[in-house]
Amino acid sequence: MLDVAVIGCGIVGANVAYLLSQHKLRVAVLEKENDVSMGTTRANSAIVHAGYDPEPGTAMARLNVRGSALTKEQCAAFDVKYDPIGSLVLAFSDEELATVRRLYENGVANGVPGVRVLTKEETLAMEPNLSDAVRGALYAPSAAVVEPWDLALALAEAAVQNGAELHLETAVTGAEPIEGGWRLHTSGGDVDARAVVNAAGVESDTVAAFAGAPGFAVTPNRGEYYLLDKSQGGLVHHVIFQCPNKDGKGVLVSPTVHGNLIVGPNAEPAERGDTATCAAALAFVREKAAKSVPGVSFRDNIRNFAGVRANSDQSDFVIAATASGFITLGGIKSPGLSSAPAIAEDALKLLAEAGIPFEKKERFVCSRKKKRFNQMTPEQKAEAIRENPLYGRVICRCETVTEGEIVDALHRPIPPRTIDGVKRRCTAGMGRCQGGFCGPRVHEIIARELGIPQQEVLKDRAGSYIITGRTKEGGVSHGE
Ligand SMILES: Cc1cc2nc3c(=O)[nH]c(=O)nc-3n(C[C@H](O)[C@H](O)[C@H](O)COP(=O)(O)OP(=O)(O)OC[C@H]3O[C@@H](n4cnc5c(N)ncnc54)[C@H](O)[C@@H]3O)c2cc1C
Repeated sequence: MLDVAVIGCGIVGANVAYLLSQHKLRVAVLEKENDVSMGTTRANSAIVHAGYDPEPGTAMARLNVRGSALTKEQCAAFDVKYDPIGSLVLAFSDEELATVRRLYENGVANGVPGVRVLTKEETLAMEPNLSDAVRGALYAPSAAVVEPWDLALALAEAAVQNGAELHLETAVTGAEPIEGGWRLHTSGGDVDARAVVNAAGVESDTVAAFAGAPGFAVTPNRGEYYLLDKSQGGLVHHVIFQCPNKDGKGVLVSPTVHGNLIVGPNAEPAERGDTATCAAALAFVREKAAKSVPGVSFRDNIRNFAGVRANSDQSDFVIAATASGFITLGGIKSPGLSSAPAIAEDALKLLAEAGIPFEKKERFVCSRKKKRFNQMTPEQKAEAIRENPLYGRVICRCETVTEGEIVDALHRPIPPRTIDGVKRRCTAGMGRCQGGFCGPRVHEIIARELGIPQQEVLKDRAGSYIITGRTKEGGVSHGE
């Protein structure tokens, strides 16, 4: 019997698994998709929020402020891209100036370091490309941008290296209480565990309901984005928010850790897995963004995408034992990414209350170093190529990613099996051409390194075959 089964491997499940793996426990993570970070964690604004937004006294306020400090430490330890660029919340009217003042007071009450209210002149001096209609802003220097999927991956990899099991393509479909714990029914057979942590994102209410009354309901809400070419990345230097409204934090304009510009999201009710984008929502995003930064060139768009928020009928995160020994981390909407390491700490406290004994291992993996060819000095590049000639072969021309980096990614503790999995690990295909040139070569490398036929290499989720139709020999491949 496992000590703990964690359901879901987004940023929350990965943080829980990482903390558990530091202790003498038998742990398994059950994830329905074919990779880590396939839910909301891979499609969001990628902001580590400073923590002035949640109402003082809420779990969200406490977890956001603690979580953002821990996220910074984790990114340093695991060599995850993190850029502490700070954020501005713009005010365009007297009413919004009052909102900025209220957010400032929230920030002070929540213990957010360095928040201050800026005049119009101070705001425009920091960001000359903002609209001249701006009247002032809230400045939060501790806000940052991050690579969320890579952070979740780094934590999940460390958990695996520390002995946790990761079962991909394993959907939990039901649960029943058994002597001393829970039996989880999954697409890969039954799994018994003394305790369960439900970190199933937008499905957290469904999974909680397997064990009893969840006490909350997820109300999924989609946000759509533009990701613009690096030519637009220098238009602003901070995360530019508008004043929050009843639908959330509004449309932001921000540089990304890769030097692109991200613009979005809107907020619209959606089905749980529906990450489609649509023209009307994107037109709304363009119009709203122009209010803050009129000069964004949407002709330089390289990708649109959408993420689904696990909003719920509760105003706060749901962090509770929803049944005995069954801990639910539910309704983890924004700022869930920023709060995740602190949410995991709370989960461990609830597991201790449920009788799970925590004894720290003497040694465990708690760091990672990545080789990024495009950030090396000429001397480091020469050395990398001497050590491994595959570092001398550039596969992704937009991002200058070498075959060496792709092969390294394919032999990590959690190897990708898809083109997008490679992209998330070493940025091949993340640039201007979005994999148009390097996609077929990455495809070949995956098949070669994993020893699988090219027909089996997927673009992304299960079933997303790239090669379909009849083969030359007359055989039938997928899709026929
Ligand atoms: C548009 C948008 C913008 C956002 N921007 C920010 C931001 O800038 N900053 C911030 O802090 N937060 C932001 N958030 C919120 C943040 O992205 C989420 O709070 C966070 O990613 C939630 O992580 P998670 O691990 O709970 O969920 P997920 O990442 O969705 O992970 C849940 C996992 O559970 C798996 N799963 C589900 N059901 C089952 C099952 N039955 N069996 C097995 N596995 C299952 C899923 O496949 C998935 O991998 C944003 C969210 C959205 C949608």
